[in-house]
Amino acid sequence: MAQSTLPAPPELAQAPPVDAPTIGVRALWPYLRRHRPTLVLVVALSLLSAAAALATPLLTQRFIDDLGAGEAIASTLALLVAAVLIGSVLDGLITYLLSRTAGGVVLDTRVRLVDRLLRLPVAELDRRRVGDLISRVGADTTLLSAVVTSGLVQLVAGLVVIVGAIVLMARLDALLLLLTLVATGVGVAAVGIVSTRLRPLSEQAQAAVGAMTAGVERVLGAVRTVRAARAERRESAAIAAQAHAAYRAGLRVARVQAAIEPLAGIAIQGAFLAVLGAGGASVATGRISLGELIAFVLLLFLLVQPLAGAIMAWTSIQTGLGALARIEEVLALPPEDVGDPTAQPTPVVGAPLLELRDVHFAHADGTVALRGVDLVVARGMKVALVGPSGAGKSTLLGLVERFHDVSAGSLLVEGVDVRDWPRDALRARIGYVEQEAAVLAGTIRDNLLLAVGEASDERLTELLATVNLTGIATRSPLGLDAPVGDGGVLLSGGERQRLALARTLLSAPDLLLLDEPTASLDAINEAALRRAIDAVAQERTLLVVAHRLSTVADADLIAVLDHGRLVASGTHAELVASSDLYRRFATEQLLA
Ligand code: ADP
Repeated sequence: MAQSTLPAPPELAQAPPVDAPTIGVRALWPYLRRHRPTLVLVVALSLLSAAAALATPLLTQRFIDDLGAGEAIASTLALLVAAVLIGSVLDGLITYLLSRTAGGVVLDTRVRLVDRLLRLPVAELDRRRVGDLISRVGADTTLLSAVVTSGLVQLVAGLVVIVGAIVLMARLDALLLLLTLVATGVGVAAVGIVSTRLRPLSEQAQAAVGAMTAGVERVLGAVRTVRAARAERRESAAIAAQAHAAYRAGLRVARVQAAIEPLAGIAIQGAFLAVLGAGGASVATGRISLGELIAFVLLLFLLVQPLAGAIMAWTSIQTGLGALARIEEVLALPPEDVGDPTAQPTPVVGAPLLELRDVHFAHADGTVALRGVDLVVARGMKVALVGPSGAGKSTLLGLVERFHDVSAGSLLVEGVDVRDWPRDALRARIGYVEQEAAVLAGTIRDNLLLAVGEASDERLTELLATVNLTGIATRSPLGLDAPVGDGGVLLSGGERQRLALARTLLSAPDLLLLDEPTASLDAINEAALRRAIDAVAQERTLLVVAHRLSTVADADLIAVLDHGRLVASGTHAELVASSDLYRRFATEQLLA
């Protein structure tokens, strides 16, 4: 059944493994460093705002005492209004600056993440789930934003007000301050202990979202197969199970967050009750004035607001750190090494364009794909690789592109080991047309310009004509800017390959690696692909994984691979005469 092309089903409904490093608050610093000037400005404005906020109770105290004593109140009232207005405007400005910084942090992180993802070694990407990586770029980075806006701001601005309020309280009454500190101190300690559980839980919740995104990506990537297999309901249920797992992981975070609020509330209420009780008694005995008690209570208000904010900020930072761990895990992966881009290896005079010497290769999971292959591809040759599925043909092309490095032996381009070529210089000399997904979502133009960036419309139209694809640019009024669909679904299989061939013509590489489509094409498409390959092969060297008799028939050399070994080589006529395996293969496997 067609379903066999789907990747392995996801592990359902269980908490995904978390292999991210454990990180602390300090890990946030590199993300904030670039925004230091704004953050310094925010701290300065917060100090001003705090001063305005702290002046309010003192001015109120003066206002009440002056009013009671029958003195002039106009200037005090004016100062009070000014303090309130300045404080409010500053708060608005601070909120904006912080949101802007948060947006900047998210932006930088996304740019870094995407850049790293595109540079990861192919083997690393092969073993990961695309949806989970996408979720790190989207959902995880979004959580960082809350760390900056509701987290850091409140912590910084809050701490200033808290310290200021405590200093002013100390000047007013030491006993009431002591009561306040004991009550709030107990609460803060309790919250601190509970919130340490948040970070790992948040990390699990984000991983669950990643697993769900990977599940969605898995079925949408094979939507035709899913439909044809009538598997919508089952697959939808599988993703729903993942969504439920994410929901449950989110609830575990919410439960800890919910426990924090009453803890903070009890501490704050306790402080109020203690201050009002002891303060009321002190006013009754005449130890302090009513104005002083009111000022103290207003300061207490000033204290608890940022205190509650700081507590919530701490929880939001802990949650953000969970997401940050997933981001850091990707950023910590070493990118594919590019080699020394300035190094220009000197080609060995007279060396073949490509040579494999006793090449062995095993994939990361230990699957041995090539066992001692020797092959010489001289400039201008057309070399065909044939052999049963799993023989190692595609792997061999991947080694030339250095998607992987040989396990033993060596692979030389113009006599120089591919590991001594800067990757960019090596890949610039090679064109590669993969069997599947050789076309990206976008327009015809985007696809043609993938390697070179720009070319005139005339040149592009000419290229399309060379591969007999003029039709795809004329059937839509959009011409070259007509979309090709996700993965080129709006094109036929043969058209996709020919569009990819046209792309390689534009960058004019010396060596073209082509993984021929296995699917049988209709006669017109077949002939068109044939002509396109011939056109491409005319001026360059071609190494093609062949599935067609017509492709091998005129090859200068056919290399027969079986179980990773080169078992025979020669021209079609030679092999038909000398190799039983080839003869059988040619009649039973190659598309006529
Ligand atoms: P062919 O192109 O001849 O069909 P491949 O080069 O695709 O063969 O595969 C050669 C062997 O390597 C097969 O056993 C295949 O299962 C294995 N293989 C291919 N790609 C990977 C991979 N990314 N990870 C592990 N094993 C792989």
